[in-house]
Amino acid sequence: MSSRGRSRAVKAPASVVSSVSVVSVVSESNVVVESVPESVPSTQGTPTFGKSDSDWDIAAPAAAKSVTESVTNSVTNSVTESAESVASVAESDPDVLKEYKSFDEMELPEELLRGVYASGFERPSDIQTKAIIPMKEGRDVLAQAPSGTGKTAMFLIGGFTRIDISRNEVQMVVISPTRELADQTGNVAKALGTFMGLRYHLATGGVGVDTDLEKLGRGSTAIPHLLVVTPGRFYDLLTRKAVKPATIRVLVLDEADQLLDAKFKEQIQTIMSEPFIWPASTQVALVSATMIPAIAATAKTLLVRNPVTILREADEVSLEGIRQFCIKLDREDQKLMTLCDLSDHLTIKQCTIFVNTRAKAEWLMEQMRRQGFDLDCIHGDMDLKERKRRMDSFRAGKIRVLIATDLLARGIDVQQISLVINYELPVSRENYIHRIGRSGRFGRKGASINLLDAREVRIQAEIEEFYGKKVEDLPMDLDIY
Ligand code: ADP
Repeated sequence: MSSRGRSRAVKAPASVVSSVSVVSVVSESNVVVESVPESVPSTQGTPTFGKSDSDWDIAAPAAAKSVTESVTNSVTNSVTESAESVASVAESDPDVLKEYKSFDEMELPEELLRGVYASGFERPSDIQTKAIIPMKEGRDVLAQAPSGTGKTAMFLIGGFTRIDISRNEVQMVVISPTRELADQTGNVAKALGTFMGLRYHLATGGVGVDTDLEKLGRGSTAIPHLLVVTPGRFYDLLTRKAVKPATIRVLVLDEADQLLDAKFKEQIQTIMSEPFIWPASTQVALVSATMIPAIAATAKTLLVRNPVTILREADEVSLEGIRQFCIKLDREDQKLMTLCDLSDHLTIKQCTIFVNTRAKAEWLMEQMRRQGFDLDCIHGDMDLKERKRRMDSFRAGKIRVLIATDLLARGIDVQQISLVINYELPVSRENYIHRIGRSGRFGRKGASINLLDAREVRIQAEIEEFYGKKVEDLPMDLDIY
């Protein structure tokens, strides 16, 4: 795992002796968000559409009053019910979704199909077999599928079928919760859209808005067809009228449950409310690996165009291909030594170590470097250029171990990550699944190891129960990939 790594087999370190005593751990949430500029007005009282029993009266693509109530109601029922109990393919769709087992069968535009095959995608993944065609048909989609199963390509391929390349205007927008994810999505879009002549632009916070305005400006003869944005910057561009909802045919909320929850909720609500007037025809796709019932209920207010809902049971998102292990410790302060022991004995391709706070990420990096390990850390307090540099160097395999906050928990796709270590368990249960989903991408083998103090042993038990998956004690000899 590190420059000190020697042998292939992992021996559970000497310190791996389970016994219990209570230690408190700092676990302040550190999910990094793009913030809306301070000038963002409150949206309360200005909904342009949607009747909801929640506090979500989202305007949303759809000036949705135009859509029949019966459709809305059927979705409402199916989303809530699916999220709570059954799941799978939408009950709002009586025909049950047809699954398209090959990309050829989907009758995609030829240039797009070339991009798909050139990306090395031979066959569609499960979610791609089900959700690309509804997107192509302009239907609203709520798509939940495990991490690493090709959701990004799903919504990009589906959305690209709706883009008219000859039009010099923004026609598709993907909102991502982090810059890193937006950047990655932009790169996938570039590859898929290359033969179509698709133009895309990445517009995220932290860098000046001038380039965005230039690209999107009236005089521009090369306005991007696709915009990948973070919520704050998107709001800014809408306010400046650099992007007009009227031209947008497809709006995707990636990591939708995060975007519709706590920190982002108001931002998204603002974007989808007056004074921005969204046409009824703008299609909405909500995509995530996790979806809790309360969020699914919120999401329902956005789904109005003959929607398709694909939800999964909690135990279906628990990532069968990833072997989950733990090391139970007496105290938090034993974790560092245990991690060093572990790192000395592991040979893996790449590894991400998750912690809960920015301060902890810096501290751990410092401590590990002192022990002779060559690694980096990444978190939201960091200068944007430095954040990008470290991410690029990790993607390129120059750095094999990266310590991260939940900034990297969602969506990030580095195929070489074969091991995720939770130095601290995450504050949210959903992020546990997202974190371990950084390994084992697209069916590859992966493993996770939780370092637990006594308090976390109990938290892990709750996670195990919720996802219906046992986390085993790390065996003395383990071959990690
Ligand atoms: P998710 O968004 O579901 O977490 P991604 O879209 O990031 O997953 O995809 C995970 C990995 O699988 C990526 O490296 C991507 O290139 C690859 N991938 C996606 N679709 C296919 C496919 N049909 N065939 C092969 N690889 C695929």
